[in-house]
Amino acid sequence: MTSINKKVCCEVCDECSWHLLPWAESGPSVTTSGMIVDASLGKGQCNSCGVVQRLTTELLGQGTFYTQNYHTYFSRVGAETFDRSRYAATAMWMKSSLGKFCPQNIADVGCGRGWTMKEMSLLFPDTPITGIEPSEEDARLASENGFDIITSTLEAAMSTVGTFDLIYCNNVIQHSLSPRKFLSNLMQIVSDNGLIVLTCPDVTRPSNEMMWSDQNFSLAPVHLFKLASDVGLHVLSWQMPPSLVNLANKQLIIASKDSRIPFTFCSGDPPSFSISENIEERNQYLEGWQSLDNYLCQSVSDKTAVYNFGASMWSYLLRGYCPKYWQKVDACVIDEFSGQFMDKAVMPYQGIEFTRKDAVVLGTEPLNQPSLEQTLRDRCLAASIITWNQIVPQ
Ligand SMILES: [Zn+2]
Repeated sequence: MTSINKKVCCEVCDECSWHLLPWAESGPSVTTSGMIVDASLGKGQCNSCGVVQRLTTELLGQGTFYTQNYHTYFSRVGAETFDRSRYAATAMWMKSSLGKFCPQNIADVGCGRGWTMKEMSLLFPDTPITGIEPSEEDARLASENGFDIITSTLEAAMSTVGTFDLIYCNNVIQHSLSPRKFLSNLMQIVSDNGLIVLTCPDVTRPSNEMMWSDQNFSLAPVHLFKLASDVGLHVLSWQMPPSLVNLANKQLIIASKDSRIPFTFCSGDPPSFSISENIEERNQYLEGWQSLDNYLCQSVSDKTAVYNFGASMWSYLLRGYCPKYWQKVDACVIDEFSGQFMDKAVMPYQGIEFTRKDAVVLGTEPLNQPSLEQTLRDRCLAASIITWNQIVPQ
């Protein structure tokens, strides 16, 4: 039985004094691949350095989660179409961050189905790219698409993988069992003049990155810098994302083994981080989620049919953390796609005759909800449109 272990030491500062965040000890929780896990979210914030860490006795990555159960992350209806712009934007962000750097070979650590590799191969057309991916299904699909893939965790591949001039890993470190070990492993496989580019959520402002039970760590820039320097890496650049909704709350660092790299990289100033402000904001954010189920249920209480607009990771969160609302959902709707999302049918928006007695609840990124609401109003949608960005601000 998974339970909280408050005696775990902080990955960043090695202290073991924790402030438990809301939902730390009551389950279930949700993974980024859409699984509902019969264990609490289990997150605590370190009283000493402010990092958020999952404090449960077992972490999902210790079992077969990433090798066997993660591929559903990429199987959401329309995911490849809807997410393509994010993979392309991430590749462009990495490429522009690297300036004149010309790697002879590249590794994508945690490459999934190769969607970022595809974008990177357009930007580095003459450079071989190797993917490392533990999910057997995702690795198989990436291989079938012609990519050079090693089906393995980074840890298990270390002795045979060789070295690379450029290693990038997008949204992987927060899933690892130990970011310190992960960075140390990356350092061992980057060439002497090579670069590591790492993107992950920037947790300076609270966001849904805290809501996933497969994300074990919430790292602000200050935590990334400390971990990198502890293992002997030099952070050459820190960057906030381009102003795109699909890269909101992300951060990028460029690191190397050697500080004497003959290139200069643009760098921004990481936002300041206050532990006390952060605890307050995180509590408020999570408490917003805790009140959302009742809010949505009330909002649809007099409706004949309830449609959840979207079938993205935000809908995973609604399904997991707003179970009473989810029971009332008749179907998910997306523009021009049909299929199945968890236990609900997905219907193309264009095929439904909405009436004034129906509700369309936006199951999407809160940041986008005002503009999506306007788009639906412009389509003269008869149904009531329910937003919740005022309950869970982003
Ligand atoms: Zn700490």
